[in-house]
Amino acid sequence: MEHNSNFIKDVMIKDLESGKHQTVVTRFPPEPNGYLHIGHAKSIIINFGLADDFNGKTNLRFDDTNPLKEDVEFVNSIKEDVKWLGFEWDDLFFASNYFEEMYSRAVLLINKGLAYVDDLTADEIREYRGTLTEPGKESPYRKRSIEENLELFEKMRAGKFGNGEKVLRAKIDMSSPNINLRDPVIYRIAHATHHNTGDKWCIYPMYAFAHPLEDAIEGVTHSICTIEFEDQRPLYNWVVEQCEMENTPQQIEFGRLNITNTVMSKRKLKQLVEEEYVDGWDDPRLPTISGMRRRGFTPESIRNFVRETGVSKGSGVVDSQMLEHFVREDLKLKAPRTMGVINPLKVVITNYPEGQIELLDAEINPENPEMGMRKIPFSREIYIEQDDFMEDPPKKYFRLFPGNEVRLKHAYFIKCEEVIKDANGKVVELHCTYDPETKSGTGFTGRKVKGTIHWVEAAHAVPAEFRLYEPLILDEVEEASEGEEKTFLDNVNPNSLEVFQGFVEPNMKESMPHDKFQFFRHGYFNVDPKDSIAEKLVFNRIVSLKSSFKL
Ligand code: ATP
Ligand code: MG
Repeated sequence: MEHNSNFIKDVMIKDLESGKHQTVVTRFPPEPNGYLHIGHAKSIIINFGLADDFNGKTNLRFDDTNPLKEDVEFVNSIKEDVKWLGFEWDDLFFASNYFEEMYSRAVLLINKGLAYVDDLTADEIREYRGTLTEPGKESPYRKRSIEENLELFEKMRAGKFGNGEKVLRAKIDMSSPNINLRDPVIYRIAHATHHNTGDKWCIYPMYAFAHPLEDAIEGVTHSICTIEFEDQRPLYNWVVEQCEMENTPQQIEFGRLNITNTVMSKRKLKQLVEEEYVDGWDDPRLPTISGMRRRGFTPESIRNFVRETGVSKGSGVVDSQMLEHFVREDLKLKAPRTMGVINPLKVVITNYPEGQIELLDAEINPENPEMGMRKIPFSREIYIEQDDFMEDPPKKYFRLFPGNEVRLKHAYFIKCEEVIKDANGKVVELHCTYDPETKSGTGFTGRKVKGTIHWVEAAHAVPAEFRLYEPLILDEVEEASEGEEKTFLDNVNPNSLEVFQGFVEPNMKESMPHDKFQFFRHGYFNVDPKDSIAEKLVFNRIVSLKSSFKL
């Protein structure tokens, strides 16, 4: 699907027309320090989508310059998620494969008098950096000779110093109004094993130095990133120019995707996982790609949602209901309809012959008749929802209550004759009668009922667990009272998961992980890929049916 016109595409068109570039090369550059989330999906779709519009290239590049936080587990999950979203990268690169070249570019800067080894501590560097209104102060080590810097930098590489003892800084301008240009740190010491280069290195390039070099080395033409890097663009250009890179990629920023009731920073997601607020990175309540996949979102629904949010400089907040809208749209014609009872109440149909069983016909999806028909058994004992019965109903309650008649979807009218309770007064069973004249599909017009409820035949019902979700994060923040610190963890919804044991139609017995269904009145569900087994199916609710949301 073509991107609608947007300001990034306009730059690309201009660059091709003017001959600045012959082709478009983009990259998706995740740091393998966590799982991808739906914000990353936006970046993926923009990078792959735009290059595709011009028959260009998109690389997957792991920005793996921080061994302390990175891991192959994350590398593998990221690859899987990009593919699942429906994208194929041209080349697969690791920034760590360029460490040697980056090192020699840093040496080049030193030789040009544009970089120096600094002995100030991290705190001192911060202090010396100044503020938005005050210029920075030069480090006493800024005047070191080129020779001394070359020697010290080599010693840093050789492991002669401990973590934090020294850094390499670009020598730019300590009084620049742009704080990013006040001699940014470009190399630091970290004695740590890297997932790719092992113990070969103990100095690692900083993002602001590494990223432009990575882009230039790969011949990226348009380096698309999020808006918070706007102030870093002058530094990006400085690095490319002063390191004398052959290719000169252009950084272009766009506004991040934000969604209501959703935290998207990897740091926060990691905290939710590690502190066990959720059950792993693929918990269906998380906005991670793996969590959304497990919940039952489809790649199409995510892509369509992201495209609808557009590409702009601003970072608005999108209503999470819009995401739900797109998955309903996608599943409407694809998902078989079925009936499942989430919170069962036994019903005995006393005038239905004992031992008799009949098979009723029902469409698999009335909105998509090509999907055909299914058979549903019906007999003397069925389950209905506890919520579909009330002993003392309010006015306008049209479901089951003593003396009232309702339609059983695809079956007959039944009338509630007797309520059976246990010793505590809890309703445990209903005795009803049915009217054989009212069978669905026979055109019965004798009388009408106001309520239609779903059910599952008891003897053949397949046990199932239902997991219903609410937003993990509540947006309505209570003000912190004095002296109290609030974090996003205070907004974690304690009721974000509710689990029910119920039953589904017997024709669902063979359901496979990731099969998706629309349960009558309950919404769309996905067979859980981890916990569902033939003896007990597990269904994750993707979304309920109704929404007030309109595009
Ligand atoms: P986070 O802030 O969630 O930790 P990040 O930016 O540190 O994410 P990276 O692995 O560096 O994570 O991200 C890879 C790419 O995805 C970057 O180009 C980044 O700008 C982009 N990206 C991350 N979050 C979003 C978002 N919410 N909307 C759009 N793009 C995003
Ligand atoms: Mg990042």
